[in-house]
Amino acid sequence: MELWYTEKHTDTVDFSIKVKKHFYSEQSPFQHIDFFESEEFGTFFTLDGLMMVNEKDEFVYHDMITHVAMATNPDIKRVLVIGGGDGGTVRELTRYPHIEEIHMVEIDEMVVRACQSYLPITASKLDDPRVTLFFEDGLKFIHGKENVYDLILVDSTDPIGPGEGLFSEAFYTDCYTALSENGILINQHESPYYPSYAHEMKRSHTKIKKIFPISKVYQFHMPTYPSGHWLFGFASKKLDPVTDHKPEKWESFGLDTRYYNSDLHKACFALPTFVKRLLEE
Ligand code: SAM
Repeated sequence: MELWYTEKHTDTVDFSIKVKKHFYSEQSPFQHIDFFESEEFGTFFTLDGLMMVNEKDEFVYHDMITHVAMATNPDIKRVLVIGGGDGGTVRELTRYPHIEEIHMVEIDEMVVRACQSYLPITASKLDDPRVTLFFEDGLKFIHGKENVYDLILVDSTDPIGPGEGLFSEAFYTDCYTALSENGILINQHESPYYPSYAHEMKRSHTKIKKIFPISKVYQFHMPTYPSGHWLFGFASKKLDPVTDHKPEKWESFGLDTRYYNSDLHKACFALPTFVKRLLEE
């Protein structure tokens, strides 16, 4: 009998992947965690029935959450990852020898342990000596911290369940305070395509714009996320990701990246007209 994983992308659109096996299914104190094996996407896991990470397209997401900021401020030394339990964002950060400290605050230890067992492609660098793991709510963790990080990467779930507070104005204000003078905040910005996701994208962007003097949105292509068209937000106190982009310096690091490159860095900030209009409305 054929086995399919099906996820609801909207009330009238489903997305399905043929799977070979469904080999892990556990309820953590925060969410339901499932792992599957598939021919097309390799191993993948879902939280509360939503695709998080798969072996085939994870490089797109993890390149784009990490390297855009690193090529805007190549001197970043202290980084905080909020969420990111699969470890893919930390893996990309550990490729920079000059980064001194990486804190990762993940609310759900079970996600991390399961990824260490079943998804080594992303979780393999969580034991890097520069990495410290904190198992707590990122919202509480950041509150009251001042001038501690050069970069905060919010690698969260959607704005429902444990991730909801990570899309709030109070949280963005705490991130601003926790960042250094040249600090950068990158956050998961949902998709502009289907109205329910676009609504969340606009809400986050409006809140961030009130707090950070520089606030932009950039796009990338994730085949397994709703519509395949996904966004990150770039916010900072001083640095503009286009005019302060330092391609020569970034290229001197010699990183071999499969999705990100210096041309794409500039291009990903050039938004389609419908996205520009959504942001301006
Ligand atoms: N890249 C994927 C994506 O966006 O779909 C997955 C990112 S990662 C798996 C998201 C993680 O955020 C989850 O493991 C979840 O437990 C964590 N998370 C959600 N809310 C959180 C919070 N308030 N504090 C810390 N971590 C949180």
